[in-house]
Amino acid sequence: MECPKQKGVRLNEGQLAAGPTAYGCPECHGNWISTEHYSRWQAEQSPPERASVAEVAPSMVELDFAASELDNRAALCPDCSHYLVRARVNLKHTAFYLERCPNCKGIWCDRGEWQVLQQLGLHTHIDSVFSSEWQNRVRELEQAERERQATADKLGLDLAQQVFQLAEKLENHPNGDFGVAYLMRRFNSE
Ligand SMILES: [Zn+2]
Ligand SMILES: [Zn+2]
Repeated sequence: MECPKQKGVRLNEGQLAAGPTAYGCPECHGNWISTEHYSRWQAEQSPPERASVAEVAPSMVELDFAASELDNRAALCPDCSHYLVRARVNLKHTAFYLERCPNCKGIWCDRGEWQVLQQLGLHTHIDSVFSSEWQNRVRELEQAERERQATADKLGLDLAQQVFQLAEKLENHPNGDFGVAYLMRRFNSE
């Protein structure tokens, strides 16, 4: 099998750190994970994680990672030659693409991406990263984070924290909307 990013370079069978069998490129250090190997490994993980919905956007996690220079290069599946489909993962200071074959569902990780997935806790359900459900949830979380950041910038962290706490209390209170109405009246009458 040839490296999907580098013509003529052979992939070697190996093992990902705390992960499935994979075919690694000795030059670019990318890894090809076949569906068979991934599913088998996934089944051994306990407890089976049910986390197709992101809890934390990867862009909120502090990570030391520089994407491979080859990350952006379009590539063909080393197994069945279909064009690999990409899913973007935003990190705090950078971003990278995961790649998957739409036909055989094999996964390509460029150099360092498997380790990043492990740190994000995504390595056990990589497929979810390609779902619109996951991508949308991450966009929501990122949007909420931007809103919090903007609020903190305007109000200062102290007051912003109080606002967030109050918002949460009101959200969880059965008559919370009365509190919201009160605040709105206060500001509309001025
Ligand atoms: Zn390579
Ligand atoms: Zn394929």
